[in-house]
This record gives sequence, structure tokens and C-alpha cells, in this order.
Amino acid sequence: MSAEIREVLVVGAGLMGSGIAQVAAQGGFQVTLVDTGEEVLARGLARIEDSLTRLVRSGRLGEVAAADARARIGTTTDLVEAARGADLVIEAIVEDLDAKQALFAKLGDSCRPDVVLATNTSQFQISRIAEPCERPERVIGVHFSNPPPLMTLVEVILGDHTSEAALEVTREFLAACDREIVLCRKDVPGFISNRLSTALCMEAARLVDEGIATPEDVDKVARLMYGHKMGPIATLDLAGLDTALRVSTALSEHYGGDRFTPPPILAQLVEQSRYGNKSGAGFYENG
Ligand code: NAD
Repeated sequence: MSAEIREVLVVGAGLMGSGIAQVAAQGGFQVTLVDTGEEVLARGLARIEDSLTRLVRSGRLGEVAAADARARIGTTTDLVEAARGADLVIEAIVEDLDAKQALFAKLGDSCRPDVVLATNTSQFQISRIAEPCERPERVIGVHFSNPPPLMTLVEVILGDHTSEAALEVTREFLAACDREIVLCRKDVPGFISNRLSTALCMEAARLVDEGIATPEDVDKVARLMYGHKMGPIATLDLAGLDTALRVSTALSEHYGGDRFTPPPILAQLVEQSRYGNKSGAGFYENG
């Protein structure tokens, strides 16, 4: 465990926040999980419990290690009080810029000035989130993938003002949590992962839209020729076509050109309420 970091504050006990809290606890850190109500916190803890049990059952984690991790996680709805004792903060609240900015303003006022403030945003620029924050040089992006306990790669994003010191603390923390990192050196929408996946998925959707290949054959090329675990069309169905349409439209508007532009078939499927796996059908019939 890092010499400087003992107490990690995770804000937001949803899908990602609970998973990140678990990762930090398994890494040996004391964790406080904050959310707006006791019920959400209880659901977050139940998710952690369930995940730890699965890890133990599959032999990937020892029973003692799981019990230790569980014992290191506390919860509260009192953000300001929890922020006072934190050595590192990771934000995983709703993907809403106003909400994130309001939170970072509060964290800036409540945390010690040397504390690194990380955001798990999937799409906002780190510098925008840091705007209202006291000392924005300590704000950094740490983009975990879902589910955090199983996905070992974390994308770290430098904001326009992020300091070397903040990057070092983040590196140390993630190494202690046994995570691999990739560094996105510029504060760009989509970072590395979403730029790559959106470009690939939109080209795959275009091949289907233009009648050049079936979804099955596009995915087969990705799997059997490029060794991907899952083809881009199946990935779109899994992520949700409405979400994919939103993300690709936003990236396309920002960067211009064609590479992220969603082909018409995406909006057509969304209009037919074919959102992918979550609605039972998308590009594929059974989702
Ligand atoms: P979620 O809706 O499951 O959880 C968000 C939680 O934040 C909720 O429990 C909500 O009550 C809480 N919250 C909202 N405002 C709050 C506040 N002011 N203070 C404290 N808690 C607050 O969302 P999620 O899927 O866990 O996503 C969280 C963040 O992670 C988002 O920024 C999202 O874009 C990002 N992300 C999500 C994924 C994914 O696959 N779901 C992957 C990578 C990154």
C-alpha cells in the first residue's frame, strides 16, 4: 500500500463506485463509500458482497482476503465529514456535468489541499469537471471499466492542469490495487478507449448498413481474424444502441469528419426500440 494513502473516499455507490470501492479495499486501503441515501449504500454493499463471494467461489480470492476487504469498507451520507479524512478521492456519481462540477467544488473546499481528486467520467473532459475546483492541478481522470473488480486495465487521463505529483499518486494507488494503466496524455473527449471502440463499432455498423456484410460475418472477422473476444456488432448490442448513438454523435460533433459518424441504421434501430441486449433485440434478433 502507498505510504501516503490510507483512506480512500469513493463518491457514488452505484455500479462503478461500489466496484471501485471493492478494488481499493482489496488493494489494502481503508475505504469510505458515500452516496445520497442509506438505501443506495446498502445496495452498493450488497453488490460488493456478491462480487467478493463470486471471487472466492471461483478460487480467485481467498476467504480471509475477502473478509479483510469487506471489513475495510465503511459507508456514510456525510460527504463533507468523509472528505476531511480522505487521502484520495474517486468520484463515480451520475454522468452529469453540473452534478460533477458541484461535487468537485465541494471536494475542493472540504479535502486537504494535497489530496488527489479523481473522476471516473466516461466522456467529459477532466478540465471541465475541475473548473470550479480549488487547485485543479490535483484533478485527474481514472476511467475504470465495468465491472471494476474484473477489469484490470484503467485508463488514466491528464487534464490540462493535472500535475505530475497527482499522476504519481494515481499510479502508486492503482499499482497497489494491482491494476494496469494506460495514459491518455491529452484531455480529449472519448479518451483512448472510446475513440478506438467508437471508430471500430461505427465502421462495423456501416458495413451492415451498406448491405456489405451481415452482423454475424462482421463479428466473425473481428473474432477469427483479429482475435477480439467479442465482435463490434455484438459489443454495440451489449453496450446499448441508444448509448452508442449518443456517444458516437457527441464524438462526431466534436471531431468532425466521418470516423465517428453513426450510420443511419443505428438511429433506425433505436427508433424501433431495438436497443440491444437490454431490450431483447438490436442488430441481433435475441440481443
Ligand atoms: P450509477 O447510476 O450506477 O451510480 C451513480 C451513483 O451516484 C448513484 O448511486 C447515485 O445515487 C450517486 N450519486 C448521484 N449524485 C451524487 C452525489 N452528488 N453525491 C453522492 N452520490 C451521488 O452509475 P455508474 O454506472 O456507476 O456510473 C458512474 C460513473 O462512472 C459515471 O460517470 C459513468 O459515466 C462512469 N462509468 C460508467 C461505466 C459503466 O459501464 N456503467 C463505465 C465507465 C465509467
